[in-house]
Amino acid sequence: MQQPTVPLFAREESLAAIKPKILGHVERIVESSAYIQGEDVVAFEQEFADYLGCEHCVGVANGTDSLMIRLLALGVKPGDEVVVPAITFFATAEAVAAIGARPVFADVEHETWTVSARTIEPVLTKSTSAIVPVHLFGNPAPMKGISELAGSYGLKLLEDAAQAAGASYAGKMCGTMGDAAAFSFYPGKNLGAIGDAGAIVTDAPEVAQLARRLRDHGSADRKIHTEVGFNSRLDTIQAAALRVALAHLDEWTDARRQCADIYRGSGMGEYVRLPVQTEGGRSCHHLYVISADRRDELQGALGSSGIETKVYYSPAVPRQPAMRAFAPSRQLPGATEYENTALAIPMGESLGKNRARRVSDTILASLD
Ligand SMILES: *Cc1c(COP(=O)(O)O)cnc(C)c1O
Repeated sequence: MQQPTVPLFAREESLAAIKPKILGHVERIVESSAYIQGEDVVAFEQEFADYLGCEHCVGVANGTDSLMIRLLALGVKPGDEVVVPAITFFATAEAVAAIGARPVFADVEHETWTVSARTIEPVLTKSTSAIVPVHLFGNPAPMKGISELAGSYGLKLLEDAAQAAGASYAGKMCGTMGDAAAFSFYPGKNLGAIGDAGAIVTDAPEVAQLARRLRDHGSADRKIHTEVGFNSRLDTIQAAALRVALAHLDEWTDARRQCADIYRGSGMGEYVRLPVQTEGGRSCHHLYVISADRRDELQGALGSSGIETKVYYSPAVPRQPAMRAFAPSRQLPGATEYENTALAIPMGESLGKNRARRVSDTILASLD
């Protein structure tokens, strides 16, 4: 394929706009020599907690560590069962297995591709200790039913909000609806750093304190080690870059929503299935994933017209070789449909209306 004329994530303009500020901070940090746990870390943690409307944010090295540390901070033990979606990035389930717990896969809904109380309840057992809904592609999971379910079974509720910075549900920001949430600031995420970064957010002070110790070798003062933890601190330069990006997040989310509106209004929804938002949710459109029966054909046609697309998360996590020990015996019809039909088309804060129109025009033309 030639260089795509419309890339999957248009990021160049948004990055160009913030690059001078980020470089200024890098210079300041290099000169200060406060490389580890510098003041930008504390400042970003406060700013992100304020942005979400929650009490505590603990910066860590990446999103996968945030998932893992957060499970430990909430008391999930080896052997516990933790419910995760069948369709998500591998790390959601990997973090569970990495602490010795058992990932148990819940199917996803046909329309929204997220888990729901309907798909979670059948996989609960007396060994289940936590539920990890993912706000997939930025579309909030239906948290009302999921919270009620967690409440009635006495389970911990841990959002994987890695794709959901800026999304909301029933007036609450994603990441503030359970016992604690994990964020990733991988560069391709809606709130992206310039390297690996992540965070745990929670309202519970004891969870935040334990997460803070676990990220720093199980120590609150770097002298007495009360737990076996990790070296998983949020890097100061990443924290500074994230402070710059966070100031633009709402404007970037609006730009993504405008592109989604163009896709929705283009008429292509008559030929392919457009992503359905969860009732009461406002997606931040991390990815824009359509479904088409003749997906591979459509992908080929778009590729030859210079439009980049990608099939994410297929094969689904329960079918990955590393998950063999946890493979479910029951059928997962939602996940299977996803694997066969889903296709991510371009989306990003710098995509712009013209390029979004070009994508939808090309899709319409190739389906004729
Ligand atoms: C990106 C992502 C992660 C992992 O985050 P990293 O920062 O890459 O470790 C976990 N879960 C989901 C749903 C993700 O999209």
